Amino acid sequence: MSAPAAASRRHAPGLPPFGQDAALAVLRRLRGSSTGPRSLLLAGPEHVGRRQAARWLCALSNCLAPDSGLLPCGACESCRLALAGTHPDLKEIGPATTTEAGRAKRNLEIRIDQLVAREGGEPEPLAPWLATRPRYRTRVGVIDHADTLNTSAANAFLKVLEEPPPWALIVLVAPGPEALLPTVASRCVTVRFAAVEDALGRLGEAGAPAATGDLSGHPGVRLGQPGALIRALEDADATAAARSASAELIAALTGDLLTALGAAEAFAKAVAASLEAAQEPGPLGWLREALRYLPAADYAAALDALDACERAIAAYAQVPLACSVLTLELRRLTADRG
Ligand SMILES: [Zn+2]
Repeated sequence: MSAPAAASRRHAPGLPPFGQDAALAVLRRLRGSSTGPRSLLLAGPEHVGRRQAARWLCALSNCLAPDSGLLPCGACESCRLALAGTHPDLKEIGPATTTEAGRAKRNLEIRIDQLVAREGGEPEPLAPWLATRPRYRTRVGVIDHADTLNTSAANAFLKVLEEPPPWALIVLVAPGPEALLPTVASRCVTVRFAAVEDALGRLGEAGAPAATGDLSGHPGVRLGQPGALIRALEDADATAAARSASAELIAALTGDLLTALGAAEAFAKAVAASLEAAQEPGPLGWLREALRYLPAADYAAALDALDACERAIAAYAQVPLACSVLTLELRRLTADRG
């Protein structure tokens, strides 16, 4: 499916994320000095632009135009590669999100062989890649979800983190320094990214289509996560399916038992499809947001039921069964209100 033009333009690798002017100004200042730090931590919540900022830093650090201000020139050879998402001086690593069988893995971890050479491990780990001279000016190595570095992986990488090669920039992405091992956090300069105020409105400013109304009720609106909203727009059909699965289940909660269980079955199919497609938020995420209308105590109980359902699915329980149990519990909670 073709992505809305404005959303994909904003999403293009190499362009700065929007709504993060303060963080970008700090990054630009840090990078403006040749003696500035070369190990950075981009800290903040999910989907607010940290990864986009890391790619932008790579584009900016390698742009061949003399002074490109806050925007890479977009026209030079390096910028064209950055915008195409194929820059040779950018390498991003992160924890494996699936097992070989394709099921969601429960304990995400960045392995030591992703960072340093190990027999039988990754063919091109990050440390030797950083040690190789760049094609342009700066090799940018991004460690996404750096809070999932295990101790041995972190220890093997500390020396590089302490003193990266002169042409290298290491960018960690994590919720904050407190989420990292202290030895890792102490070697990085932290730049904070905040939730974007009025993320939905700003998507509109950026020229996103009128269909943004369909995103009301998306958790990313409340959480200020433009990245999540852009992704939802790019995958409009799946977004609409997840959203309506949640709405239909809520509508059926007040009906008779058979109606509710029928809705639970349809909901389970939608949940299974979203898991298959690694879609986020799936119907459960939309449901979590939509149930916020409940009184606080009931909402807390509903969250417990949602958590239990997600845990059961992660532990490979039958999705239809987990969704039926959830539906019965939500039905009880919503009936209690009347
Ligand atoms: Zn350029």
